[in-house]
Amino acid sequence: MVMGEVPDAVDVVVIGGGPGGYEAALHAAQLGRQVTLIERGRVGGVCLNVGCIPSKILIETATRRQLYRDIAGASAPPAEDLQRWQGHKQAIVDRLNGGVAAQLKSAGVDVLAGQARLTGRNRVAVALAAGHTRFMEFRHAILATGSRPVTLPCLPADDPRVLDSTAALALTALPQRLVVVGGGYIGIELATAFAKLGTAVSVVEMQARVLPEMPASVAAPLAKRLRELGIEVYLNTAVEGLDAEGLRCRRGDTVQHLPCDRVLVAVGRRPNSDDIGLESAMIQADKNGRIAVGPNRIVAGTAIAAIGDLTAGPMLAHKASAEAAVAARAICGQRVAFEPAAIPLVVFSDPEIACAGATEESAAADGIATRAVTVPLSASGRAATLGTALGFTRLLVDTERDAVIGVQLVGPHASELIAAAVVAIEMAASPADLAATVWAHPTLSEGLHEAARRYLERQ
Ligand code: FAD
Ligand code: NAD
Repeated sequence: MVMGEVPDAVDVVVIGGGPGGYEAALHAAQLGRQVTLIERGRVGGVCLNVGCIPSKILIETATRRQLYRDIAGASAPPAEDLQRWQGHKQAIVDRLNGGVAAQLKSAGVDVLAGQARLTGRNRVAVALAAGHTRFMEFRHAILATGSRPVTLPCLPADDPRVLDSTAALALTALPQRLVVVGGGYIGIELATAFAKLGTAVSVVEMQARVLPEMPASVAAPLAKRLRELGIEVYLNTAVEGLDAEGLRCRRGDTVQHLPCDRVLVAVGRRPNSDDIGLESAMIQADKNGRIAVGPNRIVAGTAIAAIGDLTAGPMLAHKASAEAAVAARAICGQRVAFEPAAIPLVVFSDPEIACAGATEESAAADGIATRAVTVPLSASGRAATLGTALGFTRLLVDTERDAVIGVQLVGPHASELIAAAVVAIEMAASPADLAATVWAHPTLSEGLHEAARRYLERQ
């Protein structure tokens, strides 16, 4: 280099403005640091712009249409106008987006629009959206560049029939026949939504059951409802390609074509760690693209923290935000660690599925003696008023510590109900604590109370 670039000295740089990055920036600013947040797209990241929020708007729209169809029968309205729906979705996303931008502004965070790349242990170059490059030297950096969909070589992304979740949520016309490859979180949530909107949906999953990362207990009620919604599920099935007859799949020696006009590929996500200059900062990602961090989220021997989908653990927005608070405090010299007893896992399927803490399998592997109690949803008066009995509440107790260590919920509003379980697990509540608490009637939350009561009865 003939002339060296003289970098601007900055205090804290946060790269990526998703639920990890923007929360980290807000926390660091609140702790008195001068924060520069660099985002190449829109603040809010995947979650707000193309992930959690848009998918839940689609699920909500589809569920209301399904309810209407169930009640009105033959006089159901025609399939949802996705063109109009896009406007509805974008208005919500834009409003929430504005809220995040306003929070960052009022906290004094300097937001730069551009693509960042580390160029040294304390340096970053930002290719600004405005066209030029800005160089900065930071005291601390927090990496929160998130993840992107995994692609399959046999389903090239340039085939207009092949969609990832972002493209599926941007559709302006409903597919007639959709095959979803991957029966994980995205596959099951979007398969259910499109089926409720009127699309003929199939799911192809390479494992022996859908949601293979979830406890096996949730499989039966989910499978029943997927059947009711007319969703065909192909398990232990590998995808081989897409041709004029449809999606070519193989199960053992049997090759089959699934006719379709669209294929949604939802086979996992990969961290955005390969193009951010990690090598210049002497940081190495593992073979899955994850960055190793200490309990305080700092990369050993550096002034750099990493959070969210970039690091090990579930790729979830609330995990990213919770790590953000830890990372911000760690770079301020506080002794902190990210060690939650329970990170809730929620699938916004029908019925909803929510799990927190240990399962019987994980407890057994850790040598913990447990006893589980299951209360079926058919025992719930509130569930009856909602017209369903499909689901359950399952409570897992560490018998030695007399503490609740795991909860699994399947049923309406499980996504909301799991919060009580997370508090119980974090506080190491005993079944007696839960049983002695007064729970409102008639509610679905009473399932947890009932499970604790039944546990005590059988002691
Ligand atoms: P991201 O949200 O991915 O944000 C990273 C940001 O960094 C992006 O805005 C990106 O533009 C920016 N960036 C990347 N590289 C650079 C660079 N070099 N320079 C500048 N900026 C950069 N999770 C849930 O908890 N609940 C849900 O219901 C849920 N639903 C989902 C539905 C879908 C369809 C998808 C795809 C995901 C869903 N998730 C959900 C997962 C959730 O979106 C992610 O776990 C979460 O967004 C991760 O947050 P993050 O801050 O680590 O990264
Ligand atoms: P996932 O890891 O949840 O599921 C991927 C599924 O695809 C697995 O069941 C896997 O066995 C299957 N699979 C992999 N390769 C395959 C192949 N070649 N053929 C057929 N099946 C194959 O991944 P996802 O659904 O893409 O979602 C990515 C991540 O986003 C999730 O892991 C989750 O962390 C997050 N997310 C969360 C929520 C939520 O919290 N409600 C919703 C959506 C996404």
